[in-house]
Amino acid sequence: MADLKNCRQCGRVFASQGSSLCRKCLDNVDKEFAIVRRYVRDHNGADVIEVSQATGVKEETILQFLREGRLLSRGFVASLKCERCSAKIDAGRFCTKCSYELNQQLQGIMPAAAEKAKTLPTGREQMHIYKIDK
Ligand SMILES: [Zn+2]
Ligand SMILES: [Zn+2]
Repeated sequence: MADLKNCRQCGRVFASQGSSLCRKCLDNVDKEFAIVRRYVRDHNGADVIEVSQATGVKEETILQFLREGRLLSRGFVASLKCERCSAKIDAGRFCTKCSYELNQQLQGIMPAAAEKAKTLPTGREQMHIYKIDK
């Protein structure tokens, strides 16, 4: 079942399949992504501000690509920071250290869940953290 949502970009109501953008804006973002990717490929080491000025794509949009991991900062000076300790990171929201610590904390807050996790087979302990409610 598709949810009716307001598009995060243009505010229009649309039937969402898990995305927060409508079709039109998604197409737009894909186009912008193609432009940014091409620019970064041709200009190794460019930073977000330079890419934004050269391509006309908003800095926020470029940062979003980095956050989503669509755009990696190889040859690209990322201004992405860990939301917890402000260490420089290449993708995602937290650095490796903080991801690990947050994980530990989460298990501390929810001892029941941690107890449960112990009974699961090795390698499956983290799965409950990323579960999305449908
Ligand atoms: Zn839209
Ligand atoms: Zn961190």
